[in-house]
Amino acid sequence: MPKLDPTTDEFRAAAHKAVDWIADYFDNIDAQPVLSRVQPGDIEKQFAAAPSESGKPYDALLREFEQKLLPGVTHWNHPSFFAYFSITASQAGILGELLMAALNNNGMLWKTSPSLTELETLSLRWLRDALGLPGDLFGVINDTASINVFLALAAARESLGLNIRGEGMTGRDLPPLRVYLSELTHSSAEKAALALGVGQSNVVKIPVDDALRMRVDALEDAIARDRAAGMLPCVIVATVGTTSFASVDPIRAIGEIAQREKIWYHVDASYAGSAMICPELRKHWDGIELADSLTTNPHKWLFIPIDCGVLYTRRPDVLRQTFSLIPEYLKTTDTAEINYMDYGLQLGRRFRALKLWLVMEHYGLERMRSVIRDHVSFAERLAFEIEKRDDVELLAPQSFSVVVFRKKAGDDATMELLERMNASGKLFVSHTKLRDRYGIRVAIGNGATEWRHVEEILSFL
Ligand code: PLP
Repeated sequence: MPKLDPTTDEFRAAAHKAVDWIADYFDNIDAQPVLSRVQPGDIEKQFAAAPSESGKPYDALLREFEQKLLPGVTHWNHPSFFAYFSITASQAGILGELLMAALNNNGMLWKTSPSLTELETLSLRWLRDALGLPGDLFGVINDTASINVFLALAAARESLGLNIRGEGMTGRDLPPLRVYLSELTHSSAEKAALALGVGQSNVVKIPVDDALRMRVDALEDAIARDRAAGMLPCVIVATVGTTSFASVDPIRAIGEIAQREKIWYHVDASYAGSAMICPELRKHWDGIELADSLTTNPHKWLFIPIDCGVLYTRRPDVLRQTFSLIPEYLKTTDTAEINYMDYGLQLGRRFRALKLWLVMEHYGLERMRSVIRDHVSFAERLAFEIEKRDDVELLAPQSFSVVVFRKKAGDDATMELLERMNASGKLFVSHTKLRDRYGIRVAIGNGATEWRHVEEILSFL
């Protein structure tokens, strides 16, 4: 019987080549155009209609990777990638991915890989402490913040005591459940509310003030109005580091309302949570101990390759009560306290903790802090330079490592500038809008970014 891989020889040679390729890629990444220039369909049409019947050697495939696929790659790991949220596949993180793939562990139960479960518990405890979070938070790793906010909102819904788990939401007399967000909350929270049967009309978007923070008075009014109308407040979602402007909601004031009103409080710190490894930045989430749940993405700003999204909660019992469902074949007799399958939708679980552990241990918190501090200082310097110019202005206050600016001449001139910047291949920026005014948005977050990369932005103005 032929084996899939008769020996490890071919793999060994190809893997060495691939690692050399990766190292060369990092050494020369500055020379790549950041944003791919291909047109839709260009990549797909290069390939045959069906995969090979007889197989191809790795060398040929690595050549195809370079020649056919690389032109269609947008280089997220480029130090001049400033769009969306800039991310980093660090070398330690890539090593973690490599080892993770080799082990191919599935941590659905503790016993299906004790190291996976225990390293996830340990690395999330380390991360929690490194971010200055309360010691009673329980953490779990999933792929993205979108999934994690869904889990948190499901737990919030379960915490209402309406036995929605048992009886569902239809065919019974339930009040409308209300979900409170700000107009700047990431769309994933609204999507979660849709998927949980809350209904889009019950997602209440609270306006923000001039500092782009959720208005506490408007939140209080909305809750009071809803209660008077017989509706049931279910969850408040506040954000530390909004997607468009990295603005920060008043975490403590909102948390106090949530406590007083007995409403589940979720804080989305998907982007800015990582910055809290720097103690001086923790003032931005003063009151975080009031959160029932919290999401943060180490794959955004903590040098972990995508994906690694973390959900923390101080009410793991509710999360478990929401999701635990154990078929016979998954019943266990060991004494392990945590089987992560009990805390979410998915059964299968990658060994993501391996990269979290490797990154934290290899770089050390001090080095990670200094890179994040650099990013924030580059953003401050960019904002300062922009404010000195006559023809451009900040659209919103600079926050963390995000700067949003516009041409004073208006939207058309700003859009033209963005197109010109991105067409250059030298950098990649994205856009947003504030009160119908178009802005160019720069997010600094790659581990290789230096001031010279950020400074290049000024050469286009
Ligand atoms: N929350 C915030 C504040 C975000 O900025 C984003 C994405 O940028 C998300 C949630 C969703 O993240 P993910 O892609 O991990 O689902």
